[in-house]
Amino acid sequence: MVCFLKYSKYCDFPIENLPYGVFSTPSNPTPRIGVAIADGILDLSEIAHLFTGPELKNHQHVFREQTLNSFMALTPKAWKEARETIQSLLSEGNPTLQNNSDLRSRAFALQSESIMHLPAKIGDYTDFYSSIHHATNVGVMFRSKENALMPNWKYLPVGYHGRASSVLISGTPIQRPYGQTTIVDGTPPVFGPSKLMDFELEMAFFVGGSTKVGEPIPVEKAHEHIFGFVIMNDWSARDIQKWEYIPLGPFTSKNLGTTISPWVVTTFALEPFIVDNYPQDPEPFPYLKHSDKYNFDINLQVDIAPKGSNVSTTVCRSNYKYLYWTVKQQLAHHTITGCNVNPGDLMGSGTISGDTSDSYGSMLELSWKGTKPLVLLDGSQRKFLLDDDTVTMKAVCEGDDYNIGFGTCSGTLLPAKELK
Ligand code: MN
Repeated sequence: MVCFLKYSKYCDFPIENLPYGVFSTPSNPTPRIGVAIADGILDLSEIAHLFTGPELKNHQHVFREQTLNSFMALTPKAWKEARETIQSLLSEGNPTLQNNSDLRSRAFALQSESIMHLPAKIGDYTDFYSSIHHATNVGVMFRSKENALMPNWKYLPVGYHGRASSVLISGTPIQRPYGQTTIVDGTPPVFGPSKLMDFELEMAFFVGGSTKVGEPIPVEKAHEHIFGFVIMNDWSARDIQKWEYIPLGPFTSKNLGTTISPWVVTTFALEPFIVDNYPQDPEPFPYLKHSDKYNFDINLQVDIAPKGSNVSTTVCRSNYKYLYWTVKQQLAHHTITGCNVNPGDLMGSGTISGDTSDSYGSMLELSWKGTKPLVLLDGSQRKFLLDDDTVTMKAVCEGDDYNIGFGTCSGTLLPAKELK
């Protein structure tokens, strides 16, 4: 498979990737669906008429919409046909797009000149807690080594229902939030801006297809509802979280904003990077059990750049494969009660930490609750995030012949706004 566009071997978006996103351009401010290829975007609204296969010929309208929800609502067969059609249209041997200079000039935009939007209208957002190293670290810090994992943790994928309205596209600034915190345990709380702002290195998947209330998704069919993945920063106010989370879990400490990367990388593109599932002991209940591999080797990285600094420091290198629970298990558990899902629902993995101190996916763990400050390349120190810090997350599958990149998930933490 050779693309008629040229790009480097280390490019995030080769013809084997083809992630979907929603973009607009200064000359055409209408959001539309595109596919990232090399440093460009193929505008699917301009080539919708070329999807003439059996699955899509009556659904070309999904490529002329302003979000991916209608496309996500179709079946894996239709998603596969779309991918094969786009791959064919971009390949060297196919003249349809390559040699049609009028269509070609209309159908391509440069990523550097485009504005990215949320890829889907997110109806519901759920966040899991599926990294064993992260859950263990937090447990050791807040309880003890002996009681690090709660008794339920290895029996079910722990999660909570998050807030969809404040899921934001990469590049959107985040405001330092206000809230109640206790400075000394056992004393009354104070009110003010959070002093312990953190990032959480996560990945999230978009749900495809829909189910009805009362119809659980069996674990062996869960993959049919996993459309694709993005990078996610689940910004967290640790001091607010600590005071508010008992007994119903995090609330305002997490609803201040959740940033996702703009390109949704499909499970088709990730197939060559499937690796063994994390070993599970005890054996999960049958409704959570699957023997096929559904874990991915995706390198993850977090960089912090202070205000006005052109030196950013990589503070974490982790990998998606460290997750204990698979996304199939997450979805099977989420719906076992009969809870329904809809296309465009977003499900976060939880902070993805590895087992070494340079692979921890949050400042809470990297600075070990503020006891071990990090030193950045500009000489400044961090226990938690400072005002105007920019946090950038990257994810990439590194293959022998090509990479499958996710682009970046970036946001700047602005100082707390004065309350009116
Ligand atoms: Mn989270």
